[in-house]
Amino acid sequence: MSDFIPVNEPLLSGNERKYLMECLDTGWISSEGPFVERFEAAFAETVGRRHAIATSSGTASLDAVISALALGPGDEVIVPTFTIISCLHQIVRSGATPVLIDCDPDTWNMDTSLIEARITPQTRAIMAVHIYGLPVDMAPIEALAREHNLTIIEDAAEMLGQTYRGRHCGSLGDVSIFSFYPNKLVTTGEGGMIVTDDDDLAQRCRSLRNLCFQPTRRFVHEELGYNFRMTNLQAALGLAQLEKLDDHIRIKRHIGHRYHELLSPLSGIQSPLPRTEFADNLYWVYGIVLKGDQQTAADLMAALGRRGIGTRPFFYPMHLQPVFMNMGLFADEHHPVAERIADYGLYIPSGLALTDEQLERTATVLTELLG
Ligand SMILES: *Cc1c(COP(=O)(O)O)cnc(C)c1O
Repeated sequence: MSDFIPVNEPLLSGNERKYLMECLDTGWISSEGPFVERFEAAFAETVGRRHAIATSSGTASLDAVISALALGPGDEVIVPTFTIISCLHQIVRSGATPVLIDCDPDTWNMDTSLIEARITPQTRAIMAVHIYGLPVDMAPIEALAREHNLTIIEDAAEMLGQTYRGRHCGSLGDVSIFSFYPNKLVTTGEGGMIVTDDDDLAQRCRSLRNLCFQPTRRFVHEELGYNFRMTNLQAALGLAQLEKLDDHIRIKRHIGHRYHELLSPLSGIQSPLPRTEFADNLYWVYGIVLKGDQQTAADLMAALGRRGIGTRPFFYPMHLQPVFMNMGLFADEHHPVAERIADYGLYIPSGLALTDEQLERTATVLTELLG
């Protein structure tokens, strides 16, 4: 179907081609090329952090961070249940215990009022994950972290360019990560970034990214690391994309505001909040949740698909993941808000290359299906 509206199409309208040609013309295609450091420096400046460490993905960034913090058996990490599995991978693999928190029904972010009750003497860290466009309420997390001496890990994968009470997302954790998957605000195809102001932690992440090579004698290792390096080709894309960040933010907000005008009058759906007391929605994606139980997200997604409109379901809660249930994790846990929005939530085309015409057609079809 030639006029199918994809759920995401990236925008590559800046210096991407020019910088990629520079890589090809100079022969610098590996992680040793000069764009990697240029991208890291520009990125650190953008989010206001001392260190930025480019990696092969957002998931790899989280894996490296959990390894760098030396979390392991006996340690507990508080995480939202409504998130992507990348957040739990290395926590579980390291032998540490993820402790799940349900989400807020209005913002879909971790419900911070539920955290304190789940803190124990074993708790080491809280992972704050900003979901879909609005930042997590960080103040209560910061207060709990101070009181209990916990590390804050911030997953800002979806939130480049967003702020929390005027502070950059990505500057709110002791260590924070980003993803550059093609649906994110800046893309490198695949890629990620770790940012922090902590010199030691930055050093550990850099080392883990590159097989824990020693500066003194190459091929001698005191620790096991990973190959999570970003290539010069990816960093060239990333630098060109970062130059366009302000445009990308403007486009996301334009898409969000236009959908809000057209769809928030529909009584059958819950639309994203345009703002909270600490941020205007960035509208990384435009998510909707069906009210009532007549129709599930899967039903509506199938109907939209037949009309040529791409969608994605909401995240599936971590406590219901077969892989974790098979490991005996989260037995008998219930997180009703996450369970409901997983069944009734979906997001509609909201990529940076979406045209007004595509957006309006999507809204018209949704209005017909739900009206
Ligand atoms: C996209 C995303 C990730 C994973 O990033 P990848 O680059 O795809 O590995 C992690 N956390 C959140 C919240 C994300 O949205």
